[in-house]
Amino acid sequence: MGADAVGIVDGTDELVVVNPGISDGTCEYCLRGEQSLCVRFKLLGEHLPGTIAECIVVPEANVARIPRDTPIPEAAAFSLSTLTAWRMLVTRAQLRPDEHVLIQGIGGGVAIAALQIARHIGAHVWVTSSSDAKLARARELGADETLNYNTTDVASEIRARTGKRGVDVVVDSVGQASWQSSLGALGKFGRLVTCGATSGPTVTTDARKLFWNQWTILGSTMGNNAEFATVVNELRERRLLPPIDSVFDITQGREAFERLESGAQFGKVVVRVA
Ligand SMILES: [Zn+2]
Repeated sequence: MGADAVGIVDGTDELVVVNPGISDGTCEYCLRGEQSLCVRFKLLGEHLPGTIAECIVVPEANVARIPRDTPIPEAAAFSLSTLTAWRMLVTRAQLRPDEHVLIQGIGGGVAIAALQIARHIGAHVWVTSSSDAKLARARELGADETLNYNTTDVASEIRARTGKRGVDVVVDSVGQASWQSSLGALGKFGRLVTCGATSGPTVTTDARKLFWNQWTILGSTMGNNAEFATVVNELRERRLLPPIDSVFDITQGREAFERLESGAQFGKVVVRVA
């Protein structure tokens, strides 16, 4: 188990952060520089043995050196979420500073990274959650507007507060449960970008609204090697550091997973191996 990692390269004193997306380096998409589209793409901890281990072996292209004084829990939890959110917002949706972005389900790693990147770009950021405590944490991280979807109709509230205009970009990794409110909040020429479907995979879209409003629906997964290099530079500058919910020693591994299962966490749960 475990996708992300930070560690020391064996036989050296180099601190490196790991990109958990493993590509073959030889297929059509890899040769085009799009490693996350690799036909043999695999993730550490999902298709390959994970990073909660004393030693792991990965291709050299999947590690990047960082300064020895980089905060370790933040570096350990950095790659997957930040890389995924960066590709979604910067490469795919091309979010601009003058735009409004809605991020559904704040609290998970990708949503929080998307909030940090959207603030970094300078966009106006809306977030949703069913937890007022998570919305308060999101405001501390710079969210401009927060909506509790249990007590608020997200789409109509955004329409009301933007003079019926809606938002330019929606980040939706929730899927089935949030799809209608995501589309309902999306303004003309809007882009909806998705990297997950935690509440269910099958969604319905009214094709008339899709063409009339000239929407773009974008899929996104992980990131390519160039994007990994870009986000690691942010880490080196100590920007976009993920909030850490908790750090557990490997001897408390069960408690770490129970913390995740509770859904109460805000930010990353880190397991310290050594
Ligand atoms: Zn490939």
